[in-house]
Amino acid sequence: MSSQPQQQPIGLSELTFDNRFVAELPADPQPTNERRQITDACYSHVLPATVAAPTLVAYAREVAELLDLDEADCESSEFAQIFTGNQQLPGMHPYATCYGGHQFGNWAGQLGDGRAINLGEVVNRSGQRWALQLKGAGPTPYSRTADGLAVLRSSLREFLCSEAMYHLGVPTTRALSLTLTGEQVLRDMFYDGNARHEPGAVVCRVAPSFTRFGHFQMLAARGETDLLRQFLEYTMRTDFSGFELAEDASDSERKAAYCAWFAHVCELTADMVIGWMRVGFVHGVMNTDNMSVLGLTIDYGPYGWLENYDPDWTPNTTDAQGRRYRFGQQPHIAMWNLVQLANAIYPLVEDTAPFEQALDGYGHRYESGWADMVTSKLGLRAFEGDADKALADDLFTLLASVETDMTIFFRQLGEFDIANYRAAAGEVPSALRPAYYVETQLDDDFCSRLQGWLSRYQARVQRDGQSHTQRCIQMHAVNPRYVLRNYIAQLAIDEAENGDFSRVAELLDVLRRPYDDQPEHDQYYALRPDWARQRAGCSMLSCSS
Ligand code: AMP
Ligand code: MG
Repeated sequence: MSSQPQQQPIGLSELTFDNRFVAELPADPQPTNERRQITDACYSHVLPATVAAPTLVAYAREVAELLDLDEADCESSEFAQIFTGNQQLPGMHPYATCYGGHQFGNWAGQLGDGRAINLGEVVNRSGQRWALQLKGAGPTPYSRTADGLAVLRSSLREFLCSEAMYHLGVPTTRALSLTLTGEQVLRDMFYDGNARHEPGAVVCRVAPSFTRFGHFQMLAARGETDLLRQFLEYTMRTDFSGFELAEDASDSERKAAYCAWFAHVCELTADMVIGWMRVGFVHGVMNTDNMSVLGLTIDYGPYGWLENYDPDWTPNTTDAQGRRYRFGQQPHIAMWNLVQLANAIYPLVEDTAPFEQALDGYGHRYESGWADMVTSKLGLRAFEGDADKALADDLFTLLASVETDMTIFFRQLGEFDIANYRAAAGEVPSALRPAYYVETQLDDDFCSRLQGWLSRYQARVQRDGQSHTQRCIQMHAVNPRYVLRNYIAQLAIDEAENGDFSRVAELLDVLRRPYDDQPEHDQYYALRPDWARQRAGCSMLSCSS
């Protein structure tokens, strides 16, 4: 076997930028940074604000590696200056993009990068394109009534969760760095008149692109059909592979390609949502402006993790009334959002049939992906149709019927030696006991329902003939032991606000290997403590960030 010579990492000044978004798409001609509506353009030039005292809180070495960056450079003061927006590297070309969106089901008009500033696109040594984007680096023409800033609380949540999701195997935007600006930002967390000053922070996000459903919707809403076509073709050739159009492609070839692209976006979206459902992630604000066409989880705001399995749960207090974005609703909302994207692209195709077909494709992809997902979560060899669907559905009903920690339950079920299970009246098997929150809920009725299910599961597993070890390995590969529980993120926030970043580093490390047993970190494999039930940030979050 020949071994590849290890290439030396590069310094910050050696990053290669190739800023296609600004090179190929039309700019808003106005150079000043005032709030405005724009037309016939995809973005505005804007510089990040200058801040008082950039300090690095943490960086993700895997993301630095994607950029070929030397770790020593990530710890330099120059790095903190650049990734709070105080300095630009040669080749950077800062801009904010224009998009619209449906918020909570209503068309909200122009939104845009209100506090995100793109620095440019790096092409790494393997030829991969990575867009760098600062979140919280000051106002842009799209900031509307807000300040363009972000606070440590929400930035820390975004930084840790994007990396945690990546290591869980769920498609996501990445985070290179979390920095403090050294400035204070006023926030009223629950919009109830209790504003406080919080430390300002910036996350540098990294993704192949940050293009959202709302980018297409905005151009369609303005009736800018030529630009819509230009933007779509740009996206197809730059952010996707296999969708490049020949220059002399005919009208019908173009239409077919747009539809094939849309069908692909449907598939990517289904795969992303299945990932969320597998690990118990609730996005919290699935507005169409928060949907990536690459099927990446984007815009970590008032997201949350299911602790006790409850399909009706949403962490977002701003959505407490309608619970539009509750856990169990996410697959339907993704579909609703795809319909909005279809509507936006429709003027370029003028035929509904291919869109209907692609949307049906979303349903099929979701259904078969869901089947594969529960099959692996339960450690079965293959999905055997209706009986297995009923087995999984009945388990989820059981999980919701008493307070059951979703993460702990599935992990413990993997450890549980089901072949040797003998039902004992009035008892929860000791291997599963750690998943339950409230002892008094484990009454005879519940125990007998659980036993009934376990006996069915036992028979099903026996039929598969897999060894306990095989089943355990299969299940542990998809049922994480460590997720960024809301209260754990809050502990890291409390400490970071007091200048102690050690838990951020520790969590980043634990969450790198969410499927591995890490006995030294088993404080993070535990039920949510009682104090976290009603604490702000742990059970309730808002869009204020
Ligand atoms: P979100 O609900 O976070 O997805 O944000 C919706 C819109 O509001 C997007 O256009 C954001 O860029 C913008 N936005 C959110 N927070 C701020 C802020 N502090 N300053 C400026 N714009 C913001
Ligand atoms: Mg957003």
